[in-house]
Amino acid sequence: MFFSCLDAQKPDPLLSLIEAFASDQRPGKLDLSVGVYRDDHGRTPVMRAVKLAEERLVRDQPSKSYLGPDGDRRFAECLGELVLGRGLSGQARGIQTVGGTGALSIAAGLLGAGGVSRKIWLGTPTWSNHLPLFAAAGLPVRTYSHVDEQGGGFALDAFLAAVQQASPGDAFLLQGCGHNPTGIDPDIATWTKIGRALADRGLIPLIDLAYQGFGAGVEEDARGMRDLLGVVPEAVIAVSCNKTFGLYRDRVGALLCYGNDAAGLDLAMANARGIARCSYSMPPDHGAAVVRTILDDAGLAAIWREELDAMRNRLRATRRALAASPGADALGLGGVAGQGGMFCLLPLDGAQVERLRSRFAIFVAPDGRVNLAALPLERVGAFTEALADVAL
Ligand code: PMP
Repeated sequence: MFFSCLDAQKPDPLLSLIEAFASDQRPGKLDLSVGVYRDDHGRTPVMRAVKLAEERLVRDQPSKSYLGPDGDRRFAECLGELVLGRGLSGQARGIQTVGGTGALSIAAGLLGAGGVSRKIWLGTPTWSNHLPLFAAAGLPVRTYSHVDEQGGGFALDAFLAAVQQASPGDAFLLQGCGHNPTGIDPDIATWTKIGRALADRGLIPLIDLAYQGFGAGVEEDARGMRDLLGVVPEAVIAVSCNKTFGLYRDRVGALLCYGNDAAGLDLAMANARGIARCSYSMPPDHGAAVVRTILDDAGLAAIWREELDAMRNRLRATRRALAASPGADALGLGGVAGQGGMFCLLPLDGAQVERLRSRFAIFVAPDGRVNLAALPLERVGAFTEALADVAL
């Protein structure tokens, strides 16, 4: 038999939690596991700018005929400007992808192409899909520590040691901002050092940008990555719009290739297109058309930015409240106010995570990752009390 010969698969621990949460009957249950933004009522609303753009699309979209493996070209241009700024976006080309995950998969395919054997280096802990995604693409994966020994900052020394061990042509995955799961990003001044170290050894930066606007601001969050791009000859950037535009299930993303060799960029795009063609052929249009409609219209873009600002400000208020709560340092919350993005990583073991769930109906990821964007401000006190109960 064919099917029964296949390897058994471990259930994805995070996806299993979605089901466990849905079937939990306790009132007041709190899902801090899955990485989606939630308002104070636990809802993930469709953003107003998105609804307005959708109304326009329904009214004006002339056709749903095929667009081709690049998807919506204007979308990729607009997103390139948002991510890279006007100055650098002229040195990049992009294609629409199936979310940030699709962009990373195509990036993995590009790294494996061209007959050169390249390894991919990941600072760990990192998003739980990174390692399996690159391994599935056949790339050898190497890891180093993302967080310093004190647990509060980016481990530049570990990064530089990994750079020395890498072979020229290897790639380093860096999260552009709002690191998942730790919330710990390199300081602004460190990004140039990172870029120089990679460039000196002929290593390729692969930047995963999924949380632009969830740290200090849309422009501020892109600054470190842009500084890095200023000192490297080439880079690949995988962008997700799913958190920033609240479009999760519409699967919106882009792969950007950056460099100053126009012929090289053409080749990169041709290869990316070829990889997409063999996988899903063409990306789904709707979400990217929504983002393009917003970014191409000053009025809609202003509404979107205001909504994103409100989400960020709420997250920052939650972070400040957590850092100011009694016993914050002992609970691993002392540094959260200075961190960015949607997550923080708490020093909880499996048994403590399980006790949070069984005693308090609070669901966090199995590694102790907490989605702060799902924690209502008025429940911060109850959350830290529950944490103290299971962890101290
Ligand atoms: N990169 C990181 C760091 C992420 O956290 C995520 C989503 N959890 C992604 C990429 C991909 O997101 P999506 O495929 O939904 O765009």
